[in-house]
Amino acid sequence: MSTVYILGDNLYLNITNRCTNRCVFCIRNFSNGVGGKKLWLEREPTSKEIIEELRNYFPLKKYREIVFCGFGEPLLRINVVKNISEFIKTYDPSINLRIDTNGHGNVFHQRNILLELEGLIDSISISLNAEDPEKYNRICRPVFKNIYEEILDFIKLANKSIKNVQVTIVDLPEVDKTLCEKRALELGVKFYIRRFIRSL
Ligand code: SF4
Repeated sequence: MSTVYILGDNLYLNITNRCTNRCVFCIRNFSNGVGGKKLWLEREPTSKEIIEELRNYFPLKKYREIVFCGFGEPLLRINVVKNISEFIKTYDPSINLRIDTNGHGNVFHQRNILLELEGLIDSISISLNAEDPEKYNRICRPVFKNIYEEILDFIKLANKSIKNVQVTIVDLPEVDKTLCEKRALELGVKFYIRRFIRSL
């Protein structure tokens, strides 16, 4: 199992397999990992274990970005994200840190966790995945009811706390890309279409 792995120029941190969605396109439905790395964790690593692994085996300045991504939703473990980010930013504040998230974090934790990421996280990529709540629920099958509006709020709040905010969708035929892009532009954030990948 891999907690820390390299893909291209980036270093990725896989800190949990838990998620509050069950997206129809999720790579976990088709593969055990990415880039030949097995990403199903037997148990969730502690902050201390991840920091030790980073300290001992990875030259942190070497990577274009260090990304909390994983095979699940990283912001479910907000304290681990903060601990690791603090370690990296103390080591070198110029290292770029990014989070890829489903945008459910504030609902899950029942507070604005974005305030806690200010000055630690440089970029955030939030999966919007659909142009309306009904389609979102069909595609992402979230555990929370009425989460779509909460994701839009999360994007607005992210724009106040994080320097670079990007909204993404997956390139599925049923998703209206033009409407999704319009939503992103209205929210004042960047827009990106991800390829639908079954396995790597
Ligand atoms: S939010 Fe991400 S990790 Fe969770 S089910 Fe969807 S694609 Fe998979």
